Amino acid sequence: MSQAGTAQTEKGAAKRRCPVITEDGFILSLNPRTGETLKKIPITPAEDVKKIVEEAREAQKHWAAMSFSDRERALKKVSQYFLDNMDAIAEEIAQENGKTVYEAVLMELLGAIDFITWFAGRAKKALKDRKVPLHLMPTARSYLTYKPVGVVGVIAPWNYPLITPISDIAPALAAGNAVVFKPSEFSSGVGQLIERCFKEAGFPAGVLRAVYGGGDVGAALVSSGVDHIGFTGSTATGKKVMETASKSLTPVTLELGGKDPAIVMPDADLDEAAQGILWGGFSNMGQTCASVERVYVHEGVYNAFRDKLVAQAKEHLNMEASNPESQFGSMNNELQAALVNNQLKDAEEKGANILFRLETPDNEGHYSAPTIIDGVTEEMEVFSAETFGPIIPLYPFSTADEAVKKANDSPYGLTASIWTKNYNRGEMIARSLHAGVVTINDHMITPGFAEAPWGGVKDSGIGRIKSEDALRGFSEVKYIYHDRGMMPHKAWRYPYNKAKLAFLKDMAIANNDMSLVNRAKAYMRVLPQFLFGFKKQD
Ligand code: NAD
Repeated sequence: MSQAGTAQTEKGAAKRRCPVITEDGFILSLNPRTGETLKKIPITPAEDVKKIVEEAREAQKHWAAMSFSDRERALKKVSQYFLDNMDAIAEEIAQENGKTVYEAVLMELLGAIDFITWFAGRAKKALKDRKVPLHLMPTARSYLTYKPVGVVGVIAPWNYPLITPISDIAPALAAGNAVVFKPSEFSSGVGQLIERCFKEAGFPAGVLRAVYGGGDVGAALVSSGVDHIGFTGSTATGKKVMETASKSLTPVTLELGGKDPAIVMPDADLDEAAQGILWGGFSNMGQTCASVERVYVHEGVYNAFRDKLVAQAKEHLNMEASNPESQFGSMNNELQAALVNNQLKDAEEKGANILFRLETPDNEGHYSAPTIIDGVTEEMEVFSAETFGPIIPLYPFSTADEAVKKANDSPYGLTASIWTKNYNRGEMIARSLHAGVVTINDHMITPGFAEAPWGGVKDSGIGRIKSEDALRGFSEVKYIYHDRGMMPHKAWRYPYNKAKLAFLKDMAIANNDMSLVNRAKAYMRVLPQFLFGFKKQD
């Protein structure tokens, strides 16, 4: 039985539309391992979204008026609540998402807790006024101030239903904004869980709101008058979001798809590389924007690496749904499982070699078998399209330049990794890869670090999230210039005359001439006017 099959047994479930959206206005929160309906969540009518944003705007005024310390305390109570209820929350995430409880803790909760604490504690320092010294006007006071933008709209995908929205929600709230958040229709149960955790932790009412639904509700949020959109999802939807946002010039941050390469150099620690790449490709069932989807292995170590990777996969992976130590869960939804399975079928039909494939459980869930392949050619879909599932394709290369060229030959540029014991060479290659994040001797580790900026180039997105810059990104930056009356003259003001013109030209020479002598002479000429101003007759 399929998930959609279960959905259609529900009254009014839509047949050809999204399998979790019913015609009578509900989202079905399903357990993808069993097809069981966990909850029915009412869809927020798209026409109500604007009003919810306006209500959030009212609540934001009180939130923004609070001191940094009070906001920090309110947010830290939320992370404490997550800490105190880790087991129950991880179980709830695993149930709806399909991931293992282990990965719900490792890849969702630990980061979410840490992000809320870190952004709450860092906001005051990151958002304090910053001096901007002016070399042309050293006597002026010149600085930047930051204030919240207002209401931030956060639109999230289903693969990390907790940590992904929290990556935007935490800095946006810490910077003094209200947030209206739309979880994916495939993870709306976890969306409700987030709302519930904030409420039960005593977070001020109305500052974090959620709206539920599919693309139409997301589109309504983009055009609702919010002051910034933090979108994470597919490249195709990201483009639509940007198009809609352009009509109101609403700023957007877009965290989109990926096709991440890993490059295994001949001097790599092959055991370490095999471990890291296996985890980078298969954790979260490969449903990570930054999961390893292309492995370029130096021809000198190709066979040795391939054998180690396969041996480790055989040793470590199991998919027994009933086993609490299961290393592998189910896919989140029927559509994604079908997409991945079709990509694999296409590759197999066109001649790819299956080096490893795990048996999937014989039950009703939506599974894609973790698979390692080689012999992949350009005609196969898996060669260039995002997989977003557990397929690891291997490709040999002979020179580092060739590996870099192949790694960069993709419309995506989210992250990439290099595996080598030669640190200098590793860092040189890192600089030549066209990606937003590059790691050496690890893959997909940095999404867990609050300080590390995250985001891609090309079709992988626009802007960066996380790090102190995220706090400033969710702020309105104002530059203030204050003339404190310490200049004896203002050569740029009326009346224009020859002496002032000569002074202005000398200033240009003093600051920019390539000859030190010319610069020194110009300084000597402007010094008297600098100190005493222009004489009346000048
Ligand atoms: P998706 O684009 O289908 O949906 C993402 C969200 O956008 C959902 O909440 C959806 O309801 C909403 N949406 C759909 N149409 C919309 C519209 N017209 N306007 C506004 N919102 C709309 O993506 P998905 O299938 O949920 O997620 C998988 C994709 O997300 C993959 O491509 C993956 O690589 C990407 N992703 C990227 C990152 C990153 O950090 N770069 C992280 C996680 C996932």
